[in-house]
Amino acid sequence: MAHESGHRVPFALETIGKCLCPTCPVQGGSQCVAELKAGLDEALRSNPLKPEKVPGVYCGTGKADCTDIDTNQVCICGDCAVFAQFRLGDARPSSYYCRAGASQ
Ligand code: SF4
Ligand code: SF4
Repeated sequence: MAHESGHRVPFALETIGKCLCPTCPVQGGSQCVAELKAGLDEALRSNPLKPEKVPGVYCGTGKADCTDIDTNQVCICGDCAVFAQFRLGDARPSSYYCRAGASQ
């Protein structure tokens, strides 16, 4: 059955604000992510928003730029409000967007 095109997640303040990636164990030990989080307030004031400055919403933007994340840890996307809103469980990939790329 064909799905509606409802699985493409916009990269926007609303989805960034709901995204759980900044608290995900996969990113917890990353110095690169820590630096992005430290600059996040400033990054969110830029227009247009720059995906490479935001350590999240990988379901919309694709793989993480930070290379020191640990994808052996557990992805928490299943608990995210964005995941539910866009029914990402019905699309692929359905987790680890930081490693596997954007939801299609
Ligand atoms: S996409 Fe999943 S595994 Fe990757 S940082 Fe976000 S919550 Fe964690
Ligand atoms: S589904 Fe995962 S990647 Fe997408 S906004 Fe939620 S926590 Fe972030």
